[in-house]
Amino acid sequence: MVEHAKRGLLAPFLGPRSIAIVGLSRSAVGSPVSILTTLADLGYPGTIHIVNPAMPSAPGAAVVARIEDLPAGIELAIVSVERTSVPDTLEACVAMGIGSAIVITQGFADADEVGEGLQKRIVDICRRTGLRVIGPNTIGVTDLATRFSSSFIEMGSGVLPVGQVAQSGFLMMGHHLVNNETAGYRTAIDLGNAADIGLLDVLEHFAADDAIEVIECHMEAVDDGPAFIELAKRITAKKPMVVLKAGRTEAGNAAVASHTGNVAGKARIYDAAFRQAGIVVAESAEELRLFSKTFATYGSAAGRRVAVMSFSGGGSVLAIDAIDRAGLELAVLSEETLAAIRDLFPTWIGVHNPLDIWIPVARDLGGAFPRLLEALLRDPAVDAVLCVYCSYTQPKYQAFDVAPHIRRLAAGYPEKPILGWSYGLDIEGTTRRIEADGTAMVFPSLDAAARAIAALAGQGERARSTAPASPVVRSVHDIAKARAILERAAATDEHYLFADGFRLLEAYGFSIPAWRHAGSAGEVAEVAADLHGSLCLKVDSPDVVHKSDLGGVMLGVPGGPALPDRARELVTRVTGRVPGARLRGIVLQEMATPGVEIMLGMVRDPTFGPCLVVGAGGVLAEVLDDFAFAVAPVDAEEARRMIAATRASVLLDGVRGAAPADREAIVDALVRLSDLALAHPEIEEIDLNPVFAGPDGAVIVDVRMMLAGAPS
Ligand code: ADP
Ligand code: MG
Repeated sequence: MVEHAKRGLLAPFLGPRSIAIVGLSRSAVGSPVSILTTLADLGYPGTIHIVNPAMPSAPGAAVVARIEDLPAGIELAIVSVERTSVPDTLEACVAMGIGSAIVITQGFADADEVGEGLQKRIVDICRRTGLRVIGPNTIGVTDLATRFSSSFIEMGSGVLPVGQVAQSGFLMMGHHLVNNETAGYRTAIDLGNAADIGLLDVLEHFAADDAIEVIECHMEAVDDGPAFIELAKRITAKKPMVVLKAGRTEAGNAAVASHTGNVAGKARIYDAAFRQAGIVVAESAEELRLFSKTFATYGSAAGRRVAVMSFSGGGSVLAIDAIDRAGLELAVLSEETLAAIRDLFPTWIGVHNPLDIWIPVARDLGGAFPRLLEALLRDPAVDAVLCVYCSYTQPKYQAFDVAPHIRRLAAGYPEKPILGWSYGLDIEGTTRRIEADGTAMVFPSLDAAARAIAALAGQGERARSTAPASPVVRSVHDIAKARAILERAAATDEHYLFADGFRLLEAYGFSIPAWRHAGSAGEVAEVAADLHGSLCLKVDSPDVVHKSDLGGVMLGVPGGPALPDRARELVTRVTGRVPGARLRGIVLQEMATPGVEIMLGMVRDPTFGPCLVVGAGGVLAEVLDDFAFAVAPVDAEEARRMIAATRASVLLDGVRGAAPADREAIVDALVRLSDLALAHPEIEEIDLNPVFAGPDGAVIVDVRMMLAGAPS
């Protein structure tokens, strides 16, 4: 076993005191694309060894012929030998006491079966010897604080307190997406195939490193959803985390029996899980960069109220649109603020947010611009200021330069972000000047600026928010009864539950209409004796999952002597439509008071576990794609947020004189559903559709539950 110093798992990778480069070709000496050149340009202070029997010498490095010739105490090996030699090379490194290696070579699990076998050997070596590996198939790491990189190509030199972790090297190498600036990170790690060291290891490191204020993450897949979410929640309570998830838009698994399964595509579940964990989702590589730079520049915002000051009235109107689209509000300026700036404007101009400031700045920018900006920053009703200005840096327009004013005031009011959007002939020059101190930014569009404010406000809200729901199932339920029902289903190989679905709902205290189960049409009169009013009859059959489509539901049937005949009619109808349908009996239910028809559901996601759904139900569920999602555990607060996120929420408020529905009853049902899903992993999907939501509660009139292991 190799010995690891107590510096932490990633320390030898990010700041090695001495390295050995194995597999460097002779042509690398003096080449522009060579790790030697990168290290020399960065000014790497550690000791460099090269293993190559054919290389006589190299500037700034000690060359040896074989790994066995290396001196003791080397912390990190950088391996780029041919793929078939990688396992033996790693064994030789271990024999020399080297505990950490970056494997640059590609052609492993990223390639063919031979590669997969070789990668497995790397993993075996790690498990057996304690060696830790980044890669294979990676450009490795760059740490601008320790001036170390394993890359063969130059990385930028501008340092932001950003930690970047990616499943690809492109972000590390070409992250100059905005205004052609420098790297934009402090530490970057390309996980490559992540044979050993993975995403969670790196996130843990960034979480603990105070020099990393923002985490930027590019990923293609999450292996352990719950562990990722748990860690992300811990991180985002302290520092912002921006994620670019590749493959987020792929269509979900459509061929599923329940409605919930149908609507809950992969992308929506990812989005819900990320949102609940406080992750800021970037839609593109550009946005990833922009968001992390935004957080590095401003930290957070106290709220969503934005003041706009614009050189042009047209810019103001566009800014209002962008603010609205991003879910922000236009700040209402206080009387004091307005009084303080009124004298700068002609009397005929309306002075309010957004401020059209061309007249005062055309007269005297140096006097008016800072006064206006500071007045907005001082207003307690303003959380952020969006400035629209023009950018001309030719000498004749020098008096119109806003940069020194923005920089001075950004330093003076660090808790209130000043964001810019510009037009003119030298946006790049103006941007560089405004961003010189790292306290303010210029955005490529008003929408980008508005989305940045929303992200900053979200981070502010997270920092203030209370602990999230705990995954403990509340003990108020009759879990033993529920278990017994599910054990019976497993013993009899049932994978679809209807009557037993209602029994499970009862065990969890859901509100359902009074009901009875009859084994056959002949029994209905007897079991219906203590049901009241008119009834509905529903067939219970694993072959009739969508009951009314196949004639399996009769509504408004009067109780009394005619009941058995109607039940026989129901059975005849269904068996006519589905010959050979296996009948488990008939469910008789009291008719429920109609209300707003909504749907609740659960689908168990292989990555994130139970995911809950709420939205417009009944026939509307098919037409309106109106659903909100959240990963369990869902507490009352999350349930309220879910309901509010649906359009059906408007109906719950009561339209056309209808009394508003009891939202808290739906909240209660969602929390019960969360408990049910967490307590019984054998339930794969649940559909509660429809649920009648009215002023007196939310009554579940239909249930479908799908259990694991159903034959496909
Ligand atoms: P399925 O979805 O399998 O077709 P449901 O049990 O949802 O069967 O019944 C179909 C429709 O009948 C429901 O959407 C609802 O409008 C109505 N319905 C069902 N049960 C009741 C009930 N107990 N009270 C009032 N209406 C009901
Ligand atoms: Mg239904």
